[in-house]
Amino acid sequence: MADVAAETDDKELLDACKTLWDDMVHKRMYITGSIGSSGWLERFTTDYDLPNDCNYSESCASIALAMFGKRMAEITKDATYYDDVERALYNTVLAGIAMDGKSFFYVNPLEVWPDVCKDHTSRLHVKSERQKWFGVACCPPNIARTLASLGQYISFVEDKILYINMFVSSVIEAEISGQTINVKMDSEVPWNGKVKLVLTSADEMSGNVAIRIPYYAINPTISINGSNIAIAQKDGYTYIPLTGKTMDIVFSFDMSARFIHSNPRVRADAGKIAIMKGPIVYCLEQVDNGDNLASIFVSNKTPLAEEFDQNLLSGTIKITFKGIKLKEDNWNPKSLYDEKESIFEDINLTAVPYCYWGNRNKNEEMTVWIKETFN
Ligand SMILES: [Zn+2]
Repeated sequence: MADVAAETDDKELLDACKTLWDDMVHKRMYITGSIGSSGWLERFTTDYDLPNDCNYSESCASIALAMFGKRMAEITKDATYYDDVERALYNTVLAGIAMDGKSFFYVNPLEVWPDVCKDHTSRLHVKSERQKWFGVACCPPNIARTLASLGQYISFVEDKILYINMFVSSVIEAEISGQTINVKMDSEVPWNGKVKLVLTSADEMSGNVAIRIPYYAINPTISINGSNIAIAQKDGYTYIPLTGKTMDIVFSFDMSARFIHSNPRVRADAGKIAIMKGPIVYCLEQVDNGDNLASIFVSNKTPLAEEFDQNLLSGTIKITFKGIKLKEDNWNPKSLYDEKESIFEDINLTAVPYCYWGNRNKNEEMTVWIKETFN
């Protein structure tokens, strides 16, 4: 639809694309960039209906969202589409494939209690471990070709402008005004907010490079050949004229981990918080935090400590913080309901990137959204 609108210069059709996109990302998309909140018929339902443990959120749906957003960004030159393209790619699409590349999720829940994902229930479609294959096997090859074609999401060239959309270490050969400009991008995103671009050309360069300033970049700075420049944003891009035969561009920003709330109309997330670092959504897993993750409460004032752990999930940044958990051992197991007051115990918590969940122990609890305490 977006391609047809662009090819035929159909403004009405493009406006319809914008309406669909806006409705989707503002009212019907999970924090992980997944869509399709109903397992039944794999569909959208109504605004703000985003249940975490019985959703569909197919891997392929997030790939489609990324494809749609990529086209809209290229047609409109509005970089903010990439905020959600990146959200889908870094979270749901990567979660869709195991770290060894041998098993896959079709459905991507944000909360799992494996014992309740049973046949002949409303959570039959939710699998708590990645599967080797599927009867309808759209997701595994779709993830494979998306990862293999990631280059098309990183950058594109149009009208003498090189647009940089995603900060992935790469080598780019851009044709601008009949000249070949070689670009080497070294990026520490998504773990740190530092991107270095070295542009070289045989002749004097002309044209522009447009760098996307993502929504999660706090206090962004850009330097060219060592001198800071003012960042002037137009639809999420900063435009920098290309000059000389070589240019060093360094884009730096703070992307410390932070707590995120949902719109209060999202019933499933009211009174809960999630953790993001840059575009990466984090989750709690049972292997780090014990079971019954629903009984954990966290204050959004608690400090989040980031630590790179070489031995965790092939080397990743984990986030540790303090919370409280409902005590169970003072509860009479024969009593399902009681007027007793809740008693909490302190607990040290560890969150890991959502895209890596289920890569250690199998069939364990996981949650993205954590109950919030206001004490
Ligand atoms: Zn699929």
